[in-house]
Amino acid sequence: MNTTTYGPLYLFLAGEWVPADTRDTSPVVNPADGTVLGRVPLVTAADLDRALLTANAVAGTWAKTFPNERAAILRKAGELIRQRAAEIARQLTLEEGKPLGEATDEVLRAGEYFEWFAEEARRIDGRVVPSNRPGVQQLVKRQAIGPVAAFTPWNFPAITPARKLAAALAAGCPVIIKPGEESPATALALARALDDAGLPKGVLQVVFGVPDMVSAHLIASPIIRKVTFTGSVPVGRLLSARAAEGVKPITLELGGHGPVLVFNDADIEAAAVGGVANRFRGTGQVCISSTRFLIQRDVYEAFTQRFVEATLRLVVGNGLDESSQMGPLANPRQLAKMEELVADAVERGARLLAGGKRIPGPGYFFEPTVLADVPMDARVMQEEPFGPIAILHPFDTLEDGLNEANRLPYGLSAYAFTRDARTALDVGDSLEAGMIGINQYRIIATELPFGGLKESGHGSEGGAEGIGYYLTTKFISQA
Ligand code: NAD
Repeated sequence: MNTTTYGPLYLFLAGEWVPADTRDTSPVVNPADGTVLGRVPLVTAADLDRALLTANAVAGTWAKTFPNERAAILRKAGELIRQRAAEIARQLTLEEGKPLGEATDEVLRAGEYFEWFAEEARRIDGRVVPSNRPGVQQLVKRQAIGPVAAFTPWNFPAITPARKLAAALAAGCPVIIKPGEESPATALALARALDDAGLPKGVLQVVFGVPDMVSAHLIASPIIRKVTFTGSVPVGRLLSARAAEGVKPITLELGGHGPVLVFNDADIEAAAVGGVANRFRGTGQVCISSTRFLIQRDVYEAFTQRFVEATLRLVVGNGLDESSQMGPLANPRQLAKMEELVADAVERGARLLAGGKRIPGPGYFFEPTVLADVPMDARVMQEEPFGPIAILHPFDTLEDGLNEANRLPYGLSAYAFTRDARTALDVGDSLEAGMIGINQYRIIATELPFGGLKESGHGSEGGAEGIGYYLTTKFISQA
């Protein structure tokens, strides 16, 4: 087992790495053993004002920096993140808990986002529109929207900040980001890579604090021109209202409750074994995770048996231990929630086929859990579990399956397994989700847009769409 040291932790303000000094701090806890890894400094209102003034001061210069120069910095940052991946991943596992292999994969993919958006920085173009009046030239231009306030959660501390930072910086916007206070070292490592890559001082600033105070302060400032948030639906709704006060655009990546439709003609092995890997990745604390497995009646028992077998083989443990396939939950609140959801489902008639209990000892470990025949009125059929619980539920017809898949207000990810091309086309068209995997669970790629429908949010990050959310459109009509 690796015993890497952790931290130190800073604020990154106006190009300076600022230690806590007299500021309040918040403990960062290793969820695998409950020990305190370090203390993260919490910003004051004066710090936020300094950050805002800095962002305002650098906005014009950064927006006018040549695309090739912005691209070179982002490409270099991506390269540094890849070079430092082993070290960053260890920090990530210490503070977030996921197995080192998953953490390494996440950090490498975060590096890829910087490389992808480095190229996008060079492709911001406009249009010349023919005029209906003689001698008039009409130009449509896209320009950086201005300073961005970004808020990211603890569960993907590398890739979620990377998606936002890479796109905003490529577009020419300065960013003040507040990553999750629970896993701050990873975001600081990304900032360090950008700083080392030559990002001008003040273009990126990293703050930690009391989340409500930070978001209220930043979003209310007229300096902030764009807000982006990843996290829960209730907080997304709150930040949306705050952004609306200042008529500011906001991108929201919120929760999900990903359905998986498994049809009678599906490759059951791929759906079940892949489903276990997907469901328990990140200890189930993944917004695009497959959570509700909806299985057509003829293959329900076969799927269930295979799914349970694969679940029981999972090795749970400290993410730094090479044999671990699933780490702890992020905090004790999540442990209590898992217990409540399991008890409620079982009381209403669900069959508990695997797990269902917290694992004794230090750390916030919960067994990989499978609930079958989960009744419709169970809490877990409505609420995003955000933990290691898989729900199995049978359906009869295509229409029944789609109705259940689309029943909830969420619309982030959805999956389907079928060998029939017509069924695949129909479900692809009809599933109300922003990201759909057919006959596979791997739906994330830098070149694809990442985003949800309905209450899962709006706006896309990644892909050719991503940069547009940090640009404004204006025209110049010249006689
Ligand atoms: P939470 O709602 O307390 O917080 C979610 C995130 O929002 C955290 O990063 C938190 O720091 C931030 N936040 C909270 N209040 C804020 C405010 N007023 N202003 C700005 N930021 C604020 O939830 P939690 O206990 O951290 O996580 C549990 C739930 O959050 C899950 O059930 C899941 O639905 C959701 N979540 C979703 C994602 C995602 O990737 N979409 C990630 C993490 C959490």
